[in-house]
Amino acid sequence: MAKYDPKTREKYWQDYWLKEGIYKFDPNSKKPLYSIDTPPPTVSGKLHLGHVFSYTQAEVFARYRRLAGFNVYYPFGMDDNGLPTERLVEQELKIKGSDLPRDEFVAKCNQLVGNYHQIYRDLWQSLGFSVDWSLLYSTISPEVQKLTQTNFIKMYQAGYIYRQNSPALWCSVCQTAVAQAEVEDKSFDSIFYDLFFRDLKGNQIVVATTRPELLPACVAVFVNPADSRYLSLIGTKIFTPLNIEVPVLTDSGVKIDKGSGVVMCCTYGDETDLAWIKQYSLPELIIIDSQGRFNDSCSLESMRGHTITEGRQIIVDYLKSKKLIGKDLPLVHDVGVHERCGHPIEIINTPQWFVRVLDIKDELISLGKKVNWFPAYMGDRFTTWVENLKWDWCISRDRFYGITIPAFFCADCREIIVSTDPRHTCPKCKSINLVAEKLIFDTWFTSGNTPEINGKYVPAPMSLRPQAHDIIRTWAFYTMVLSYYKTNNIPWTDAAISGHILLRQGEKISKRTGGGELRPEDEITKHSADAIRFAMCAAALGQDAYYDAKELENGKKLVIKLFNASNFCFKNLSGHRPKALDLNTLLPLDCWLLVKSYDVSSKMQKYFESYDYAHARNLLTEFFWGVFCDYYLEIIKKRVYDLPVDNPDKISAQTALFYGFNNMLIMASPFIPHITEEIFQSFYPDKIPNAPKSIHLSSWPKMDLPSDFSTLDIQVKSILEIVALLRAQKAKLGINIGAEIDTLSIFHPTLTATALASFEFDLLAVSRAKKLTLTKSDEIKVEIING
Ligand SMILES: [Zn+2]
Ligand SMILES: [Zn+2]
Repeated sequence: MAKYDPKTREKYWQDYWLKEGIYKFDPNSKKPLYSIDTPPPTVSGKLHLGHVFSYTQAEVFARYRRLAGFNVYYPFGMDDNGLPTERLVEQELKIKGSDLPRDEFVAKCNQLVGNYHQIYRDLWQSLGFSVDWSLLYSTISPEVQKLTQTNFIKMYQAGYIYRQNSPALWCSVCQTAVAQAEVEDKSFDSIFYDLFFRDLKGNQIVVATTRPELLPACVAVFVNPADSRYLSLIGTKIFTPLNIEVPVLTDSGVKIDKGSGVVMCCTYGDETDLAWIKQYSLPELIIIDSQGRFNDSCSLESMRGHTITEGRQIIVDYLKSKKLIGKDLPLVHDVGVHERCGHPIEIINTPQWFVRVLDIKDELISLGKKVNWFPAYMGDRFTTWVENLKWDWCISRDRFYGITIPAFFCADCREIIVSTDPRHTCPKCKSINLVAEKLIFDTWFTSGNTPEINGKYVPAPMSLRPQAHDIIRTWAFYTMVLSYYKTNNIPWTDAAISGHILLRQGEKISKRTGGGELRPEDEITKHSADAIRFAMCAAALGQDAYYDAKELENGKKLVIKLFNASNFCFKNLSGHRPKALDLNTLLPLDCWLLVKSYDVSSKMQKYFESYDYAHARNLLTEFFWGVFCDYYLEIIKKRVYDLPVDNPDKISAQTALFYGFNNMLIMASPFIPHITEEIFQSFYPDKIPNAPKSIHLSSWPKMDLPSDFSTLDIQVKSILEIVALLRAQKAKLGINIGAEIDTLSIFHPTLTATALASFEFDLLAVSRAKKLTLTKSDEIKVEIING
């Protein structure tokens, strides 16, 4: 047989699978349904190895379920609108969305997105993904737009969505409101400044802050009620360094030992400010506009029109000149930044649309407990996220490329009309002066509907949501929120959460960090799709893992070894006419090998059912390398080489090879689908009755183990141990492994002469001894006697 060349053969089989519709979903199938809510990748740049890691794991589950007899629904989607896509278009075309008429910008986005669809699809194809491409959806498609808008209208009418001009998290670089889930902590070098306030008697009161630029927005100061230093101040007023009078209030959240123990409350520095403004009914003083610049309400005129960073310097210089600022202490502290651009998030007042989530925290937590999370602790992450929510979900974005919010405002009476129909008149004042909402939806408000998008073909709840752990707080969470409001039920029964692939300690590969020089396309060309898939299944589900050269090597070696083993098996099966399997016709060793392959398949099945692909993979490789290749093939060589065609002992070994090897191919096929198909197709189709068109349409190997199997298992393990000791002994004595010896003396505590007799031919063959002796002994050992 020729050499196996993955470069040409992998592509060949991928085309074959497509052409033959091997993975086509059959809506009329009688098999139990298994539906996968595949993550639609955000179209925001080239896919990286992190995607390959996470998606390969889900792909392996799909293949396993198909073999296990399920009607597998495995679609793909593209999440191709919203801020990430806009940023991609802006970067690639070197334009700015805000500088172009919206239609023009959207047209450019559509075009670029089309190119990326092809790039993404090509990558998944080249990894051999068993996706039914006819189920492909795009979140910017008219169909999905309509579904999203309809859901919005229904939820608004039910009171689950509201519009409010209220403080919202805001990115002044991306010029849009963002949701809590899009904010991440980043360490910044900062300075803790002492600002000099004074009380009504003129005494200096020090207030420490990292944000002196918010001083013009200070509406109160807070102290801890138990702080004895300030008892006389509580309830009075003090003057800020800008000579504005503010009240001194108390809150037990103020840390006595931090700074001077007096803190500013500004509109808005952070979420604490926001809570205090509400709780103590304080006034708002908004000094920063949506561009992130100081507006005309800022009492220090020289700051107006400047950015936040500039404003900070201006006010620090000003206070220094007035000697109203004391020591500055450098410190590193965490600031909430926008995950897309890394720029600090502000809180500003804008009219936005919100989905109520704070009201339904308990319901979401109990819904989360109904989902089977794999690994289980990922369910706790979901719960913790929900418990710590501080904001309702802001679903509006001040951007261009996305689904428009179907709402109008009456120019005459300010009534809000939620509808997709632009021909409305105002229901309140009958005016026809309606102004359309300019905001678009947060993409999660669309991609949170994937179970419903897939609902065109399969019912909810779907069987599986596979996704990475960093989007539990977004995609998983938003899907749960929408599912709760739409169906009051879970969106999927199982959630399998993958980790990240890492390059160096702690550095995940993502679109932002890149992944260095390692492009998935190049890696596939270099190592083969099968080797990469194998390597990606090394780490346990949910665990972050390194992109490991050793695992890639192991994958390549497995492919070669399988191919070579198949050459050996098929050569020795030529002329063999397989019959229906009857274990009673087999020699004990052959019977054991074959039954053992079913035993391994049943154990793998248990692992697969809890989404533990890594243990399943390792069981298979241990059996293939450690039992089948290292022992079984070596031991039976002589029987299949030397005995005549019709010798039952030869036929026994051939039968075990014929069925056992096919079992191993099927068990390996979810991980390495190309080489297993290659080997299967080169031999099996015309030898199995009703052979499937592809190994991937086979059935998972299943057999009830014979009741006396454990006795046989113990015997064969003894035999294998004897072979191992024999090899070690030969090596120790410097005897060539294939060299003949006179006597193999076996010492064993339990092995009987009768049991040994049924393995005698094989033991003599593998040891190249002329005779065997057996002695009862507490210790297992072998001795080689020559002459
Ligand atoms: Zn941003
Ligand atoms: Zn009106």
